[in-house]
Amino acid sequence: MRPKDRSGFSIAIICALTVEADAVILLFDEVYDRYGDEYGRHPGDTNSYTVGTIGKHNVVLCYMPEMGKASAAGVATKMKFSYPGVSLALVVGVCGGVPLLPYSNTPIFLGDVIISHAVVRYDYGRQYPDGFKRKKGIPENLGRPNQEIRTLFQRLQTSMARSDLQNDIAQYLEVLRRSEPRWQYPGKACDVLFDASYHHKHHQQATSLKCLCFNSESPGQICQEAQESSCDSLECDENRIIRRRPSDAAGASIHFGKIASSDTVMKSGEHRDKLAKDEDVAGFDMEGAGVWDELPCIIIKGVCDYADSHKDKKWQAYAAATGASSAKAFLRYWNPASSEATRNWMRGNQQFTLYIRKTAERLTEAFPNNDHTKRNLWRSYLPHALSLLEEDEFKGQREQYIDLLENIGDCLSTLILCRVWHV
Ligand SMILES: [Zn+2]
Ligand SMILES: [Zn+2]
Repeated sequence: MRPKDRSGFSIAIICALTVEADAVILLFDEVYDRYGDEYGRHPGDTNSYTVGTIGKHNVVLCYMPEMGKASAAGVATKMKFSYPGVSLALVVGVCGGVPLLPYSNTPIFLGDVIISHAVVRYDYGRQYPDGFKRKKGIPENLGRPNQEIRTLFQRLQTSMARSDLQNDIAQYLEVLRRSEPRWQYPGKACDVLFDASYHHKHHQQATSLKCLCFNSESPGQICQEAQESSCDSLECDENRIIRRRPSDAAGASIHFGKIASSDTVMKSGEHRDKLAKDEDVAGFDMEGAGVWDELPCIIIKGVCDYADSHKDKKWQAYAAATGASSAKAFLRYWNPASSEATRNWMRGNQQFTLYIRKTAERLTEAFPNNDHTKRNLWRSYLPHALSLLEEDEFKGQREQYIDLLENIGDCLSTLILCRVWHV
């Protein structure tokens, strides 16, 4: 249903590039307002929005004025004021990918999608003459996602859910590919992976006087002109290609993994592989960490390059299309048990404490001690009871509900005993 005002939007999608936002808008089921004027914004909010629906969700799409963590954080903060009901932000678009996940030996190809609920901030540290040292003992691995996100991730990783998700993605991708030629699959010939130690640089003496890279093997010395040139024009050695795409079928595999987020673009095969091994990351982006601090967040990104010096933009539009398709597919499964939007609204109206008290009283009735005849009833209430225990408002009143807590404990232990018995 079309919301009355901005508080009725519960999902935000944040995009850094226009091409990413374009793909998302094409997959909206309904656009209420292309430029966000009808719903207005909070005073001081300079963000741009498009609002509409994706599936059953009211969604606000938010554009970033520029790439990077600080910009993402700024956008997310302002959005929280204008759209106070948002309970989940999806950061959707393109990212660099790790070609081979070291711990599972799973290959990632261009156009594949990384879905992540864990962000590693890898630029937190100091640059020393002999290299960059990451600081330990600080929150470089950002906060744990909330329980609803963790539960959904577990569900999506089952083989049945994964194959449903994959089918949905293929279907949405087809919608995009039919709409405009720019979303087409680029073809297997442009998916090549160079040896991580082989740099994209002038292999011949350059015409530019500013070239530093012809005589250097340092990845930090690649000159501007080389950075802006293609592998073909620099004649990067095809003998140093270590992997080609095996099949020419379009489509996207999904990978669940961590995203490493930083303000600098990852353009080094060696650093990429080291971080993949040390931190078990699957991809690299520049926005995730910024949004992470502000809102419960999931990052859904199509892989557009291998985060090495040879990276170019040939796969950017297609990867934006697979990222947007995956975000839409993901939202089909996002069905939080309790609506965060309602909760935020109640908090704003000082009704939440009352709501918590009523919920606790109702649960006290539903959890009679040792009454196994009502087992199905209290079992159905158990998820609500567990989420109640996590509410800060309840934690403050816990002492009044000792009986309820004991009964929940008894019911849980009965369930565990039943499970052990069945095993
Ligand atoms: Zn050069
Ligand atoms: Zn190259």
